[in-house]
Amino acid sequence: MAFWRVETYTVAFARETTEQIGAVRVRQQAPWEAEVADVSVVSPHASASPFDHFEALTAQLAEHGWRPLVCGACVHFRRPFDDAPDNWKGVCTWGEPEDPVYIPTPRALLAPACHRFMFRETPMEIVPADEPIAASASTRADTEATIAIQASDAPHASLWQRFWQWVKRLWQSPAPAEEPFSHVGPRCPTCGVHTVVDARLTCGGGQTAVVCTLFHCTHCETTFFDTWNEALVETAPQEAARLYVIPPSLANVAVRMWRSCATPHNHTCDCQAHRWFAHFGQFLYQEGRRIEPRTHVSTI
Ligand SMILES: [Zn+2]
Ligand SMILES: [Zn+2]
Repeated sequence: MAFWRVETYTVAFARETTEQIGAVRVRQQAPWEAEVADVSVVSPHASASPFDHFEALTAQLAEHGWRPLVCGACVHFRRPFDDAPDNWKGVCTWGEPEDPVYIPTPRALLAPACHRFMFRETPMEIVPADEPIAASASTRADTEATIAIQASDAPHASLWQRFWQWVKRLWQSPAPAEEPFSHVGPRCPTCGVHTVVDARLTCGGGQTAVVCTLFHCTHCETTFFDTWNEALVETAPQEAARLYVIPPSLANVAVRMWRSCATPHNHTCDCQAHRWFAHFGQFLYQEGRRIEPRTHVSTI
């Protein structure tokens, strides 16, 4: 994060069953401020660490009943052991226990909450100094590495476990894939900066074609999954575009899966990647945390 100016981030807050969009303003080695509804709080000036300012803001907001729906407030988020005044990135430790390629991945304090988000009730844990950390999304290099996955069958598996097992069964020797691309994506709903598209794949055919896009913010490292259902554009525009935040470990799975298809834009392709994207989009629709694209982001 650049601290030579005040930066304003768009953040969703929750109070009981209510959600409301507010803002968090940050500066280097200076108090952070948060605003939601009629509540405005400022962190103490004493600390240089963004993590301390975030925790102080969170504690003050809690007195008014508000909690930020961001990674920094989640049980899966860890603070770096050597956090510096210009660092606002910790790591997301959420990963499917059965995932053999899972590694904690960088994520910013204010990255929006995904469907695996759970409010943290205790002080933020610190990631050990010797913990292996994955490359951040913006510097992700080797998306081709794959590791053999063992099949397992749980007798009373949840929907998610069954989905994961289904993924593993599909995940066999990948076919040669076309070269990865890097396109400019939509603006990050939190930061307002343009995102980078990591994968795009068209599922279905004819009027039911659904374009699935995976993209990430190079600033807060949020990974987004978006589905665009062409059949709904005319009849239900609110439903045509669906935007979800997904954990970084699932984004890595999606990238690997996408790379196993040689023709991602062929909506008649029936390969494992096409089936995975279609199924994942449906899974998010049923269980994901859908967010509204928030375009009114200002940077001072
Ligand atoms: Zn962002
Ligand atoms: Zn395919």
